[in-house]
Amino acid sequence: MTVVDPPTKIPKIGFVSLGCPKALTDSELILTQLSAEGYQTAKTFEGADLVIVNTCGFIDDAVKESLDTIGEALADNGRVIVTGCLGAKAGADGGNLVRQMHPSVLAVTGPHATQEVMDAVHANLPKPHDPFVDLVPAQGIKLTPKHYAYLKISEGCNHRCTFCIIPSMRGDLVSRPIGDVLNEARALFEGGVKELLVISQDTSAYGVDVKYRTGFWNGKPVRTRMLELVQALGDLAEPFGAWVRLHYVYPYPSVDEIIPLMAAGRVLPYLDVPFQHSHPDVLRRMKRPASGEKNLERLQRWREACPELVIRSTFIAGFPGETEKEFSHLLDFVREAQIDRAGCFAYSPVEGAIANGIAPMLPAELREERRARFMEVAEQVSAARLRRRIGATMQVLVDSAPALGRKGGVGRSYADAPEIDGSVQLLPPEKISKTLKVGEFTRARIVGAQGHDLVAVPV
Ligand code: SF4
Repeated sequence: MTVVDPPTKIPKIGFVSLGCPKALTDSELILTQLSAEGYQTAKTFEGADLVIVNTCGFIDDAVKESLDTIGEALADNGRVIVTGCLGAKAGADGGNLVRQMHPSVLAVTGPHATQEVMDAVHANLPKPHDPFVDLVPAQGIKLTPKHYAYLKISEGCNHRCTFCIIPSMRGDLVSRPIGDVLNEARALFEGGVKELLVISQDTSAYGVDVKYRTGFWNGKPVRTRMLELVQALGDLAEPFGAWVRLHYVYPYPSVDEIIPLMAAGRVLPYLDVPFQHSHPDVLRRMKRPASGEKNLERLQRWREACPELVIRSTFIAGFPGETEKEFSHLLDFVREAQIDRAGCFAYSPVEGAIANGIAPMLPAELREERRARFMEVAEQVSAARLRRRIGATMQVLVDSAPALGRKGGVGRSYADAPEIDGSVQLLPPEKISKTLKVGEFTRARIVGAQGHDLVAVPV
């Protein structure tokens, strides 16, 4: 039996926010990103692995308060990153004032520098990626560019899937107040984010813990519920021309109400639905949410209402006790459901998971063989669906464009979430005068498909 190491300690960061409301917004952006990547905040300097001080440099008193706070953090903790207005201020010798006064700080940035602060955090306190617990992909931690950001709407989970240890580590679902979530979304859009990725352990359950309580945002009542959240995010994104993408949505009947918003272009017609399996007996053994739902019929209805809908999902092959018949049912499901993007793990007996003891463990080679067979089928389905796009013109968000994209670049369409799906390989633009910029949209004509990617010419 494979023994999986217990999850490593979660890194903790102390945070002090000084200064005006603009500085507070910067703090919110940094804290959002830290939380989405799985860092925790510490209440004391001593209890933290590292401290971030967001400073103010406006008047002498504020400068003194900021420098004193940095000194205190250095004395009590020793590992300090400084950001904010004071970080941009020059000292008497023309060099950086903070570095002059406190040479041992780990990094100094100016205001509005979420990305630089995150880079400094990653360099000094990397968060070990735990594939069984983390919502954000490992790669996302290293290079989340400025133009997309994760928005975490809740923590924990009320389900008890037998293969999962998250509820035992993170507890039951706790939804964040809808006003806080929407304020953060607005700050992210105002900060230049062009794609917001909504994450949680179960996005469709948002608000269940607070009985869909009515919260307040912008002076108006808003229910703490997925439908109202998605409507408000669509409204917020519109003036910025930004995308909203939903992850970890379960196929509950309530999700039916979201599909018209996708058809109307309010949020991306993209759903990340972690099905994990299709056979009713396996789903029961897994104790999956919505396991009694008729998933195939539901997907077909969603696609009728929104033909552009792209479905991404993850699956587990070789779950304890999985028979060949149950596994074939899964392969048929992927073909019939026409899953656009699928990931698959061979079952791995995470220590502490109930599933390890509920049925005989399949040999590791068989689990791996089924994973490979699954991926073969899933890739055929995915490739055929990609080929159907050839000839279409799509909106593409540019992720990389060296030399202003004159020799091409890399982007993504609405059908590709960063890090987990494919991408759009951009050829040099048709018109010599056209340039591409990272974090901006371009229209592109799809001219080919290659593996998980599309190939396109910017027009
Ligand atoms: S829904 Fe299941 S797999 Fe997902 S976090 Fe909750 S218990 Fe774990």
